[in-house]
Amino acid sequence: MIPVIRPWLGEEEAEAAASAVRSGWVAQGPRVTEFEKAFSGYAGAAEGVAVSSCTTALHLALHLLGVEPGDEVVVPSFSFIATANAARYAGATPVFADVDPLTGNLTPATIEAVLTPRTVAVIGVHQGGVPFDVDALEAVCSKHSLALVHDSACAAGSTYRGKPVSASASLATWSFHPRKLLTTGEGGMLTVSDSDQAARLRRLREHGMSVSAADRHTSSGVKLESYEEVGFNYRMTDIQAAIGLVQLAKLPDVIERRRELAGRYHKLLAETDGLTWVTDPEYGTTNYQSFWVVLPDSYEGTSVDVLEGLLTRGVSARRGIMASHLEPAYSKVDLPVTEHLTSRSVILPLFHQMTESEQDTVVAALAETIR
Ligand SMILES: *Cc1c(COP(=O)(O)O)cnc(C)c1O
Repeated sequence: MIPVIRPWLGEEEAEAAASAVRSGWVAQGPRVTEFEKAFSGYAGAAEGVAVSSCTTALHLALHLLGVEPGDEVVVPSFSFIATANAARYAGATPVFADVDPLTGNLTPATIEAVLTPRTVAVIGVHQGGVPFDVDALEAVCSKHSLALVHDSACAAGSTYRGKPVSASASLATWSFHPRKLLTTGEGGMLTVSDSDQAARLRRLREHGMSVSAADRHTSSGVKLESYEEVGFNYRMTDIQAAIGLVQLAKLPDVIERRRELAGRYHKLLAETDGLTWVTDPEYGTTNYQSFWVVLPDSYEGTSVDVLEGLLTRGVSARRGIMASHLEPAYSKVDLPVTEHLTSRSVILPLFHQMTESEQDTVVAALAETIR
């Protein structure tokens, strides 16, 4: 069976985790600090604050911005449900905006269509690694005095106008779940341009403590902490950070290989009439965290029929990116592009160690299924 994704993990990660265990630093310690510096450097950001997941990073981002009950936060429905849930954690209402059919991302027009006097922030998602138009979203947010959070969960290594995708972001959130391209098991990070905000985020992720447990441990004198505000336990562990450091060093290779395989998919899939697929927008590059195809209108089956057809041919694909507003936890609104993309797209296998013959198998299986 060809899997949809397979994390590229080896002895080096195992050894890094073991050395964290041997050192006695198994909770948040020096490796977390090192990983924050290395990852924020890679992302082109001033500071990094490591946390337990991208979901907790999104919650902290909205908490930092002061989002509260009565507020509305514009989010794409076309995203993993954590994006919308984060607004709920802050007590706010997520308001779903539609997306561009080619990139799967919010645009100024889809955002402006759902603004109300209660809107305070927008969470833009670089969906599946495809960058949204950062300049355009920044302009529309500043026009309406809204904060813009980048949900960059999928987008490590994607670029916008020649720079790392969220290099200009004041707040971006990242995921290190195995379904993304750099994994620490579970894990996440906020990248931040303002150092006071980074300092506050570091306190908020650790119960609101004024002096971190790691700093108290390494201090030669007595250091007492105080708790100035209510925080959370959203810490990453040194075991995770040790793995993350190894994974980060591999990321450029991972992205190069994925882009090579994606280019090969583009050529091979061109043989199948009516099929379209994810590609770079004109202003940037995707890391191809998700390689999706949109089924031809002429194909009368559903995307689930396609998944079943692929499965019987030894290929494990996935339905397209979900539409959060169609889930029972939320309520239905009219989002035609989102609904089209969700119902008519399928995510094909793409992973670092994938061979060309595995890729040929996927393409042949898809062609036979939708013929
Ligand atoms: C995966 C994902 C998340 C959640 O990340 P976790 O680290 O698993 O919490 C949030 N937003 C988007 C767009 C994602 O793809």
